[in-house]
Amino acid sequence: MNWENELDGSIRTIYQLKNHLALSRTEEKKFKHIIERHPMCIPPYYLSLIDKSDPNDPIRQMAVPDVEELNLMGSYDTSGERENTKMPGLQHKYLQTALILSTNRCAMYCRHCFRKRLVGLPNSELLQRFEDAANYISLHEEINNVLITGGDPFVLPTSIIAKFLEMLAPIEHLAFIRFGTRTPVTLPQRIIEDNVLLDLLRKNSLKTRRIYIVTQFNHPKEITPESIEASNLLICNGVPVNNQTVLLKGVNDDPKVLADLQNNLVRVGINPYYVFQCRPVKRVMHHFQVPLSQGYQIVEESKRLLNGHSKRFKYIMSHKTGKIEIVGIKDNQIFLKYHQARNPRDTGKFFSRKFNPQAGWLDDLGDSAAHRLGLHALG
Ligand code: SF4
Repeated sequence: MNWENELDGSIRTIYQLKNHLALSRTEEKKFKHIIERHPMCIPPYYLSLIDKSDPNDPIRQMAVPDVEELNLMGSYDTSGERENTKMPGLQHKYLQTALILSTNRCAMYCRHCFRKRLVGLPNSELLQRFEDAANYISLHEEINNVLITGGDPFVLPTSIIAKFLEMLAPIEHLAFIRFGTRTPVTLPQRIIEDNVLLDLLRKNSLKTRRIYIVTQFNHPKEITPESIEASNLLICNGVPVNNQTVLLKGVNDDPKVLADLQNNLVRVGINPYYVFQCRPVKRVMHHFQVPLSQGYQIVEESKRLLNGHSKRFKYIMSHKTGKIEIVGIKDNQIFLKYHQARNPRDTGKFFSRKFNPQAGWLDDLGDSAAHRLGLHALG
């Protein structure tokens, strides 16, 4: 199939990359070292979006290695994914949601990926048997939704995706199923050229429970005729598309860019869902994270340029204790709220911390979450 040819034609070595982008000798040497640890894969379509004359091009920032990745500040598991793993490939952090890591492969290895510890690499956290995951879900009636992610489940053959849906079908307490995939953005051919996939999604989504796509557009340049067509096909086949943007230094840390992105997503029928604070991931944090103070300003200024429909997203820090909304900064205090919490009793808790203009993450603000809740809970 053509999408598979497109994927096979991806840029995976520095030698191939040099045919498309000018690299200095030092970059060449350092990039080789970086991709030994964290592989590179850039499909020709996504490569074509890069302005080759601009070394700071935002698409380039997301796809091409950078010497900043040699900076080892941060950690590889900032959301506590390992401790929420119930069996290889299945995480159960929030009461109602099961998360399945279906593969370690993606169409494009985003340089800012928060699962850098496993994408493109052999890893014991990945799914071994989907049956076991389906069995766990069927025994846990509190789980009403599943997020199938990875890696990117849409790089798997359609026949495997069909098997996943077949195994989840009899579980009556499931209200909806989500696929986390960046293929509408990085490899739209995967969707455009596979009628069998679209047929499968349509039949399953319209049958008993809705299927949703969770994707990640981070810059207006990613909204192209191809990505619009892929998203349209999903929507027209009964599969709503929600977007999670990651706030990234050098990519979208500008209120105008962020507003353009959200407005244009709504224009093409994609729902803005979250803007995520970039996690303090090793080889990512130093390169891409903006301080919370700056992030809050960027998000608030972008909201002034957005209508109500386009600013439905929340600005969220996906912390190991839960999804924390950054609600406001005032009088040397930062105000936060648990949108989702690992401990269900914390969901909805509103609290404040002493403001630190350099902080990029909850842990930079001081005490542990439990301690903080005890001392500073406001409601
Ligand atoms: S598609 Fe998602 S999982 Fe894959 S590299 Fe990008 S951010 Fe990471």
